[in-house]
Order: sequence, then structure tokens, then C-alpha cells
Amino acid sequence: MPPVTALLCVLLAAAALGVGVVVGRRTARPRPAVVPAAAAPDTGPPLADLLQRMVRSSATGLAVLARSGEVVLHNARAVELGLVRAGSPDARAWAACQRAQQTGQTAEVDLSPLDHRGRQPAAVVAHVRPLGDGYTVAEAVDTSDAVRLEATRRDFVANVSHELKTPVGAVGLLAEAVLDAADDPAEVRRFGTKILNEAHRLGALVTELIALSRLTGAERLPELCVVDVDEVVREAMARCRLSAEAASIDITVDRPRGLEVEGDRTLLVTALSNLIENAIAYSPAEASVSVSRRSAGDWVEISVTDRGIGIAPEHQKRVFERFFRVDPARSRATGGTGLGLAIVKHVLANHGGEVRLWSSPGTGSTFTMRLPAHAAELDEVPGTEDELEEIR
Ligand code: ADP
Repeated sequence: MPPVTALLCVLLAAAALGVGVVVGRRTARPRPAVVPAAAAPDTGPPLADLLQRMVRSSATGLAVLARSGEVVLHNARAVELGLVRAGSPDARAWAACQRAQQTGQTAEVDLSPLDHRGRQPAAVVAHVRPLGDGYTVAEAVDTSDAVRLEATRRDFVANVSHELKTPVGAVGLLAEAVLDAADDPAEVRRFGTKILNEAHRLGALVTELIALSRLTGAERLPELCVVDVDEVVREAMARCRLSAEAASIDITVDRPRGLEVEGDRTLLVTALSNLIENAIAYSPAEASVSVSRRSAGDWVEISVTDRGIGIAPEHQKRVFERFFRVDPARSRATGGTGLGLAIVKHVLANHGGEVRLWSSPGTGSTFTMRLPAHAAELDEVPGTEDELEEIR
């Protein structure tokens, strides 16, 4: 039986059995005609008592209204969701109940609070259905999460469209410039190079969008392998070597520690590479960046520290949002997509871990990937912090 139907039966039964869940002014109320045939169990609490407990503990706000608009039965959740206030039904719910009575049809009504504040849910929807004999039942649920999710989805689509439009528009304009300068090889080369850069930007954006859409919403990764943290560090370092050289940045790494985590090696390499690429991108030339790993109780931590521009406290949470950039011009100039840290956050979440940030403007930043250690790891004695080993 679907939950709503079950609840309906419960309500009918509760009303029929005179179950006072939270009964308003009890007038001589007529009993509904439909009574489920159920015998009281031989042992345990009486059926009416069980029904009362069910209605009372329901996560759905329930209210039964009489023809007069009187609330004859409701639970505490109905009050929390604003379906019933001071013993009376919400005006919108009552209007919907009247409609349902006239048409005999189920009606849906938005009961979202007009001035949302405090612990009240931001969005509430109720379904109203006639019960016969002039009674209606309203079932209200908190839809705040669904509404929030939909708003996030809309924002995401708007952001993606905007991000894609910029390089696509640039490619169009640059192609026109190439055609206009067809007789000038130097200009053709200049515009051609810019087209190539935009094409790379588009490629990076699409690749990261695909990675993010795979990660978002995924539960903890189902099939985890034992991953050697030293290999992850080695591979991420290899990926970032060219960028580091181009920016004349020295990256130092500590010695291999033989630490192991359970996870997806490719994803962990992607996350660590994103952090190292950022450390390079947001540091002045010749600055130093360091990568270190350590065991911390049940956790393995991999940290990337830079002495770059740092991040102001008010931006530190927001940098993990998709497309948030402290300085959009700087991010674009370094080929950033605004998705790197969102990917890091999701990779860690999917591993049952987290990413931590310490930063101070003008001093630098440390991003730390915290991952649950592979079980065998926990028996080992954690070593001391090793000296850093220059790799370049
Ligand atoms: P982007 O592609 O713009 O680098 P990210 O998601 O990787 O996107 O980072 C989001 C923003 O966080 C960046 O635009 C930048 O403003 C800030 N940021 C990230 N890493 C660092 C860092 N190491 N130092 C300073 N700012 C950083």
C-alpha cells in the first residue's frame, strides 16, 4: 500500500475509532462511514493506540477538516509546517479543502510561509483530498530541499551557459579577425594562437564539467581500491611539472611515507593536481610551493602549501562553490575554469573525507585533503614529519 493511502486509512481509522491525536474543540462530530475492519490484537497496545502513535509520529503534517472548517484531528507536524495555526487551518489549505469537497478531486496547495523566518521550513506543499461525509484530509510535507536543489540546478545551468558563451564568442570574433587579416601572416598567427587558447579553455571546461557531473550526487564510491598515497603525489607532481616550470616555481615534496588510503587513484590524482595547479597559479613567480603527507589518527592528510596571494576569510567557504572566483580576471588569465576546487570538494566527499583550508591574504594558503586511512594503516606507528625533499 502506498504510504499516502496507508496514512489515509490510518486517519480514517483514527477518526472512526475516536483517536484524539490532537483534537480541536470536540463538537458532536459525525463519524466517517468507512471503517477498516480490524480486530484489536490479543497482546500489546490496542489498535487505536497504535494508530494514534503512527499519526502522531508521522513526518507528514496531517489534518482532518470538517465541512465547517473545524480541525477535528491533526498532528504536531501539521503545526510545525503551518498547516494548522492556533487550532485553525491555514486559509489556503481550507480554500483547497473546500475545492476538493466540491469537485471530489485531490488538490495540491502551496503552503510556503509568506514571511519565512526562524526554524520554519521555507517551502511546504499540501495535498488535500475528500474523505466523504463532508470531511477532507490535508497532508503537508516540507519541500525546502527540493526547492533549494532546483534553484541550484537553475543557477548551475545559467553559469555553465555563461561560461561556455564567453570562449565560443571569442572564437567567433577571432575567426573573423583571421579572415580579415588573411594577407598578413603575422596577424593570422597571432589570432590563430588566441583561437587555440580559447579552444583549450573550452576543452578544459567541458572536461571538468563532465568530471563534476559524474562526482556530484554520487554516494561514497562503491568500489574502493587500496591506493598508495606516494603514487598519488608522484603522479600529481608529474602532471603539474610543466606549469611549475613555466611559472618558475619550485615545488618541494616530503619523502614517501608508504601511507595507504581506500579510494579511486585517478580521482585522488585529479584532486591533488587541482590544488597544486592553483598553488602555482595564485603565487608570484619564483615563489615556493610544498606538498606534504602525514598520518593523523584514522586519517591520512595530504597538504599543499603556497606563499601566494592568499584568500580573505569571507571568501574561504565560497571558493569551493562552482564558478566562484575571488578575481575572475586573474582566474581566466591563468586558464582557470572556476571548477577546480568544487571537484576537489566532491572527490573528498565521495571518499568519506574532506578538504580543509587555512589561508591568510598576503601570506599564502594551505589546502589539506583528509582521507580515511586504509584499515591496515592504522596499526602502523606514524612517523615524524619528514624533511622536505627538493624535487627540482
Ligand atoms: P579556478 O579555475 O578559478 O582556479 P578553482 O575552483 O580552482 O577555480 O578556485 C576558485 C577560486 O579560489 C580561484 O578563482 C581563486 O580565486 C581561489 N583560489 C584557489 N586556490 C587558491 C590559492 N592557492 N591561493 C589563492 N586563491 C586561490
